[in-house]
Amino acid sequence: MRSQIQRRLDAVRERIRAAETAAGRGPRSVRLIAVSKTQSAEAIAAAYYCGQREFGENYVQEAIAKQDTLAHYDIGWHFIGPIQSNKTKLIAARFDWVHSVDRFKIAERLSDQRPGELPPLNICIQVNVSGESTKSGVAPEELEGVIEAVAALPRLRVRGLMAIPAPTDETDLQCASFRSLRLAAERLGRFGLDTLSMGMSEDLEAAVAEGSTMVRVGTALFGPRPRRETTAFDAGSVASR
Ligand SMILES: *Cc1c(COP(=O)(O)O)cnc(C)c1O
Repeated sequence: MRSQIQRRLDAVRERIRAAETAAGRGPRSVRLIAVSKTQSAEAIAAAYYCGQREFGENYVQEAIAKQDTLAHYDIGWHFIGPIQSNKTKLIAARFDWVHSVDRFKIAERLSDQRPGELPPLNICIQVNVSGESTKSGVAPEELEGVIEAVAALPRLRVRGLMAIPAPTDETDLQCASFRSLRLAAERLGRFGLDTLSMGMSEDLEAAVAEGSTMVRVGTALFGPRPRRETTAFDAGSVASR
């Protein structure tokens, strides 16, 4: 498993590096978040031994089981999935970053529930850049108000914006969505945002070209995901999603 992950990790790092160069950006200006949802703790450990330190998870119970298994590893944990109110307490206690905050109420709970001994929780606001009613994320016209309110919460640190554009093979459309997120962040310059969480396995080049600082990559690192129903983790939250 390790040599396969090493090869894929090398290939993804190479893609990021090539995209940074093409965009005239410096090396390591983009952080790679390895999206390990539905993957085993062993797969995470294999990537860790290949030097990967930041991992993204979508399902709280599943993530916590793996965090417990890997408790002695020096890992930065990123929560990137949809957030239910009844899960905020665990997310606030067990993650370093949350990319998928899409309403004030969730942010308020995360701030209230962030344990006092931990540093403020790093937050990205998820923005609906594709304008689809089915996609989660704050509508662009509501973004400023939401950020203003979230930035005032004491136990959070608003770092930037995140988007999951509608999938498309057309580079122009990929770039247009990512550019709209970057422009939104530029308009919110007074909040001191330093993070654009955008780009996945299929579209990371377009995202880096448009200014991404964090790409969230799963399939290109770990291969196709096992069907979630067949994983041993959190059967409870499968039913609730
Ligand atoms: C699953 C997921 C990813 C990774 O997607 P890949 O196409 O496997 O790279 C990135 N971001 C979010 C929010 C995800 O849910």
